[in-house]
Amino acid sequence: MGTKQHVIVVGAGIIGASIAWHLTKAGADVTVVAEETGGVATPNSFAWINASWGNPEFYFHFRRRSMGEWKRLAAELPGLPLSWCGSICWDLPPDRLEAYAKEHGGWGYGIERLGSGEISAREPYLRNPPDFAVAVAEEGAVEPVEAARMMLADAQVRGAKFVSAVVRGLIRSGERITGVVTSAGMIEADHVALASGAGAVPIAASAGIGLPIEAPPGLIVHSRPLEKRLNGLVIAMELHMRQTAEGRIIAGSDFGGSDPGEDRRETAAALFTQVKASLLDSDSLTMDFFTVGYRPIPQDGFPIIGSCGFGGLYVAVMHSGVTLAPLVGTLAANEILSGEIDASLAPFRLSRFA
Ligand SMILES: Cc1cc2nc3c(=O)[nH]c(=O)nc-3n(C[C@H](O)[C@H](O)[C@H](O)COP(=O)(O)OP(=O)(O)OC[C@H]3O[C@@H](n4cnc5c(N)ncnc54)[C@H](O)[C@@H]3O)c2cc1C
Repeated sequence: MGTKQHVIVVGAGIIGASIAWHLTKAGADVTVVAEETGGVATPNSFAWINASWGNPEFYFHFRRRSMGEWKRLAAELPGLPLSWCGSICWDLPPDRLEAYAKEHGGWGYGIERLGSGEISAREPYLRNPPDFAVAVAEEGAVEPVEAARMMLADAQVRGAKFVSAVVRGLIRSGERITGVVTSAGMIEADHVALASGAGAVPIAASAGIGLPIEAPPGLIVHSRPLEKRLNGLVIAMELHMRQTAEGRIIAGSDFGGSDPGEDRRETAAALFTQVKASLLDSDSLTMDFFTVGYRPIPQDGFPIIGSCGFGGLYVAVMHSGVTLAPLVGTLAANEILSGEIDASLAPFRLSRFA
């Protein structure tokens, strides 16, 4: 083998961290360039690891494969803040919930049907458990910023360099991308991987590449830490919530990216009132802060992963990046370094928008 391949990873959220970690593990010479360590969307995420309803079968299997990859990664990087706490879900009318259970159960998802007594036994603080919900024991959550920081720190131990800078554009030489122009100067490399969330759009545009990515907002309220109230993820019709490793209850109202409106504080306060109302013994539950994050969502909802436009350029931008990070990290590192095409990434190429 010749010299090590040098890869610039632009982005230090959950996706950039995972790609950088997998590249260094595979022996590459890696430079991570980012404005924000820990990411932009990543710190504002609900961070539910799932392959839940609403997706076609091929994407269900991709997401579920990544759920397994989180376990592989945890074995390689002990101490990752993962919680395989399971979920209880009733954010669909009962007939559609039953259809979801039947369909995903048929695809191999471990779905259980629960009545209100069983729901109360699992989540005794729920004030009004529904008559019917489904539970998925294999779902979980991760504290995403800490996980990204752990992957980046381990990558640095393995030799990765970190440059805190703004990337202004790509350097092009003929049909290849050969580096990036940053606020700290030019950096050249064999490959550039754009794992910069919604920030990938202007960077790709500097080489004439259009990335059809939207960034709708998502509100999450965070309580002050308190003693155990929730055992797992609760995905109800009007809100979803979980208790973090720190003991905070965090909650959002929808996964679609609805606008929190002009008075975000008021919207957050109203959501927190709903959280309190949904739990027993909630007098000591107080809101600490709220976040409004922007979900990097490709126009058709599926990830954009792969080489695009020029040799030497790789893009990895997606929603559900928290669920998908370990799988995308390993597949992207392998495609970048080996040049081999991975068939499981075929549905996610940018060329589908052409
Ligand atoms: C409210 C909300 C709830 C969510 N819930 C879930 C969920 O439950 N489950 C799930 O799987 N996913 C969820 N997501 C989606 C998930 O959080 C994102 O898909 C994921 O965090 C994207 O990570 P990323 O690393 O690609 O991007 P980001 O976290 O946005 O990181 C981008 C990185 O690129 C850097 N960057 C960008 N532009 C430049 C530039 N020009 N120069 C230098 N650096 C640059 C930034 O500094 C940052 O380091 C949610 C998102 C939101 C907002």
